[in-house]
Amino acid sequence: MKLLSNFAASSHRPADLHLLRDADIRSAGALLAACPVMLAEAGEVVSDAHRPRLTIVLRGALALQTDADEPGRPASVRTKILVGESVGEQSVLDDEPDPAILTALEPTELLLVGADVAWRLIEESDGVARNLLRLLSFRVRAANVQLRKRQKLGEFYRQLSMNDGLTGLHNRAWLNDMLPRLVATAAQSGRPLSVVMLDIDHFKRFNDRYGHPQGDQALRTAAQVLAGALRPTDCAVRYGGEELMVLLPDTCGSVAATVAQRLCERVRQAAVFADDTALPHITASFGVASLVPGQDEQGLVATADAALYRAKAAGRNRVEVDPSAVASRPAGAAAA
Ligand code: GH3
Ligand code: MG
Ligand code: MG
Repeated sequence: MKLLSNFAASSHRPADLHLLRDADIRSAGALLAACPVMLAEAGEVVSDAHRPRLTIVLRGALALQTDADEPGRPASVRTKILVGESVGEQSVLDDEPDPAILTALEPTELLLVGADVAWRLIEESDGVARNLLRLLSFRVRAANVQLRKRQKLGEFYRQLSMNDGLTGLHNRAWLNDMLPRLVATAAQSGRPLSVVMLDIDHFKRFNDRYGHPQGDQALRTAAQVLAGALRPTDCAVRYGGEELMVLLPDTCGSVAATVAQRLCERVRQAAVFADDTALPHITASFGVASLVPGQDEQGLVATADAALYRAKAAGRNRVEVDPSAVASRPAGAAAA
């Protein structure tokens, strides 16, 4: 940057500065009189990370990059500081170095106001103090809006990563996160927890005969049957491939077995359409298990899987209930 003159000797007037709007211009102008006016070339970095100061644009424009070191943030996301506007207020107020990077977008004249002069301006002019408060309040509000947008975006991506793209059901990553928590809650509270595992029957044959996209459609249909038949507290998951799972918190084995029977019936009856063409109905085999004391989530899943295997072996299109589910009682019921 090149020193041009001090503020008093320049052609710029205090009234042009936003910070002095509605302030006592004469006394504020006197305080600024000795502050240097600098010329920055286009592309020149003008920020000083070590000394808190106000930088006021008198001619030209600055680019302000606030979080340049944030990974993945494109350098083009910047704020423009235009004629009359200032930057660096916060660093003056809290006496902290400003990590923002300021770059001249064109040949730019700047008024540099050191922290000592800036504080005297605040102390001697109610107008300046008011303008600063307004400015900071505006910036806090804008930062909050930005934060909320990022939170929403983060939540959106989190949801996306926890859902299966084909069926819209929860995916395995979600299950890995949720099932241990459900098991821990059930173990602590003594309330029952049941799971139903199901696998579409002869699905390879279905794919081979009607095509993979038609198979996808059949899988979606099965997922819709589950999603449409459950209570809000129950959850349907795509465990993998054509294997789906239903988590039934607070549900004893006998109720879970009834739910599984109902789902088996509904899958069997569900019409499968692909491109307006009706395809043959599908069936699925079901395994039901309930959490037993001391069991972990892997044990619970393995038990349901073993029951499902027995349903396949017994001829498919049916429900097999593990003895753990038969023994599991409604909450509050006395043990025999
Ligand atoms: P079983 O009754 O013993 O379960 O027989 P199956 O043919 O269903 O079982 P197998 O494990 O032999 O085959 C599973 C088939 O499921 C093969 C695979 O291509 C198909 N599959 C898995 N995921 C998808 C999917 O996302 N879309 C489609 N269309 N097919 C899938
Ligand atoms: Mg199968
Ligand atoms: Mg399978």
